Amino acid sequence: NVLRNHLPTADLQRLDAAHHMHPFSDGDELNAKGARVITSAKGVMLTDSDGAEMLDGMAGLWCCNMGHGRREMADAAHAQMLQLSYYNTFFQTSHPPVIALSEKLAELAPEGMNHVFYASGGSEANDTNIRLVRHYWAAKGKPGKKVIIARKNGYHGSTMGGASLGGMSAMHAQGGLPIPDIAHIDQPYWWGEGGDMTPEEFGLARARQLEEKIAELGEDRIAAFIAEPVQGAGGVIVPPETYWPEIQRICDAHEILLIVDEVITGFGRTGTMFASEGMGIRPDIITVAKGLSSGYAPIGGSILSDEVAETINAGGDFNHGYTYSGHPVSCAVALENLRLMVEEKVVETVAADTGPYLAEQWGTLADHPLVGQVEIKGMMAGLVMTPDKASRAAFSTPAGYVGLKCREHCFAGGLVMRHVGDRMIISPPLVITRSEIDLLITRARAALDATL
Ligand code: PLP
Repeated sequence: NVLRNHLPTADLQRLDAAHHMHPFSDGDELNAKGARVITSAKGVMLTDSDGAEMLDGMAGLWCCNMGHGRREMADAAHAQMLQLSYYNTFFQTSHPPVIALSEKLAELAPEGMNHVFYASGGSEANDTNIRLVRHYWAAKGKPGKKVIIARKNGYHGSTMGGASLGGMSAMHAQGGLPIPDIAHIDQPYWWGEGGDMTPEEFGLARARQLEEKIAELGEDRIAAFIAEPVQGAGGVIVPPETYWPEIQRICDAHEILLIVDEVITGFGRTGTMFASEGMGIRPDIITVAKGLSSGYAPIGGSILSDEVAETINAGGDFNHGYTYSGHPVSCAVALENLRLMVEEKVVETVAADTGPYLAEQWGTLADHPLVGQVEIKGMMAGLVMTPDKASRAAFSTPAGYVGLKCREHCFAGGLVMRHVGDRMIISPPLVITRSEIDLLITRARAALDATL
């Protein structure tokens, strides 16, 4: 058995520690403890190498929107591998799966966004965006417009470009980031940073930092603003209602492009196909990945407005692309994923049934003595743990310690819930049922009780 499925946990952990370097991990600490080895999954349930089951409250890494183990997706990959396992999209070639997926995305994307540039995931797609918006302005005779404004505690990936756009201080501290011509403004995180302002006042104040930054650097130097509609990796931070309309006004008033990073929020997570539609945002570029294939195959991309695409097309060679831009198997899998989503009315169900039900149930956790505030948008939710709700205080233990403790209790109790500092977050598969939501909430409450 070359895949080692038959090995006992201790042997798997020993081999993992000996040869596998994990992303975003303290290697020595992990290797001393041993990774939890997941061996199979079906629907919303994961099974580990000891046979224990866990509810996948994070849909893998915010990506398994259609749930695990769908035969239709495996069949689509199988058929495409036999038909055409690989061909590139460079040098004036194309193939049916990439053509069909682009047509489908143009149909599903907001009005006037009909063009797709592919990558293998979200980080690569955001790297594309950096080069693309700079090339766009050069093609329009404004090569000085290079700076991209992003936000502190935003997440846009792990490549040099993606991590530079992101505002994660721990990432910037390693590896000489950010790259030049990236600027950051503050995030719209009311609970942690809102002070005495109402959420509405705070949303406006944080949005206006964009206008202040444009004035400070000069409009003739700014290429674009990039942000997630709802911050995901930053801790599921739903911005105040006033935030996005003001951001949109500022982008319209100044000559800058708006890149909306929908790597998490795209394909139904917030109850509309794209969060931009539901939140009244009109992007020039949308970054997609994750839910595009429900994680069954690596794929990402940038969906471009007609105006951006036409400018790039008229601007001569765009010297950029990846071996796996428009990989035929990934495209076939993504197409099948979108077909199932549409046919099974998954987004409609999230909007009208399971989303409101999760909101109601997640809301019941607000009365837990550890919980300061709960936030939810569709099928992504967060809660913040605090020693004192009234003052919105943080724990005096090392940052993130209480969150880590709660996550370990979740793990032991059969639930994958992630922590970001002392915020607990979930983003379950969109196909989760009401009874599975009940199980998720029961296990989350038990973990909070154990953390107390
Ligand atoms: N953008 C956002 C909003 C993300 O959440 C992520 C990953 O979590 C990325 C970009 C990076 O995507 P990937 O890990 O596929 O490169």
